[in-house]
Amino acid sequence: MLKNNKSAKIKEDNRFLKMKKQFIKNLLKKIDNLAKRIKREVKLMEVCGTHTQTVVRYGIRKLMPENVKLTTGPGCPVCVTPQQDIDAAVNLALAGVPLVSYGDVLRVPGYYGSLDQARSQGCWVKEVYSIEEALKYQKEKPDLVFFGIGFETTAPMSALAIKQGLVVYSAHKLFFSALVALLEIKKLRIDGFICPGHVSTIIGSNPYKKLKVPQVISGFEPEDVLLSIYLLLKQISENKAKAENEYTRSVKSEGNLKAKKLIFEVFDAVDSNWRGLGRIPKSGLEIKKRYSNFDAKRKYRSILSKIDFTKSKISSSCCCSEIILGLKEPKDCPLFRKICQPQTPQGPCMVSVEGACWVEFNYS
Ligand code: SF4
Repeated sequence: MLKNNKSAKIKEDNRFLKMKKQFIKNLLKKIDNLAKRIKREVKLMEVCGTHTQTVVRYGIRKLMPENVKLTTGPGCPVCVTPQQDIDAAVNLALAGVPLVSYGDVLRVPGYYGSLDQARSQGCWVKEVYSIEEALKYQKEKPDLVFFGIGFETTAPMSALAIKQGLVVYSAHKLFFSALVALLEIKKLRIDGFICPGHVSTIIGSNPYKKLKVPQVISGFEPEDVLLSIYLLLKQISENKAKAENEYTRSVKSEGNLKAKKLIFEVFDAVDSNWRGLGRIPKSGLEIKKRYSNFDAKRKYRSILSKIDFTKSKISSSCCCSEIILGLKEPKDCPLFRKICQPQTPQGPCMVSVEGACWVEFNYS
């Protein structure tokens, strides 16, 4: 009986795999036909670190017709966090403030070193995988600061923790503002966006309707990404510019109303600096005055005001700023695979598993 079940399962899996292969084959053929019809070069940008992983890992770039270029945008939250925030967090740790954050960001190098280096000098710095873990550490260290980074996907958890009394240094960003800013940079000449699935689960598909550019919200499987590319090329070939949702299994038009409410209960949208993109209006999240007791920027103003942020730069040869904008690829950086490797990152794009350099180093 067990043997029969197992062989039925194998048969079913093989049938599914065969269907999937055929689906991908058909899609590639359709992509090819559309590219021939469009004739000119088309530049599509994915603005999500997980999409970058899918594209490189499955060799999707190499499967594209010659005139379809896939480029990486500012979708990795660690990568777009500006140097000033990294230097601020390191200085807090060096001044004796106990600090926790999500893993990747600890290794981002700054002028004053990384948080990881501060830890090796004896500072109390720990990596957490969830906000619950940060709240647990707070019982041990009441002065604990959570260095909060990320888009609308992580901001609700930080908001919840602030309401529960956790002190947060907010470097959170609003993704959609960056998308608008990208469109205003004419030299980028982006013909369409593969929009992020995770962020869109929170913000919903409605905001994208405001933008006059082809956009497809995509899931993360290779066939999701290929289908999104097909839909974008179809729009371009028909001279259309609208927002489509390929990831309907997770993204609803209104998004996650509870999470959005939580974000704006605790945070104000303010102008904010992004690595690569500079200052973008209403693109950052600062803690509201009413929660000022839990705002590390206010609580530790005396430490932060002494930092010389004019020094907040990383190696001048690091091209992360251009990579984030899709103007360069990791292989264009003179440090890539030489002194810059995952063990010795010279910039954030080699630190984060969603960073273009890390992905290229590990998967290409
Ligand atoms: S390879 Fe390293 S130094 Fe070069 S852009 Fe990437 S992270 Fe920066």
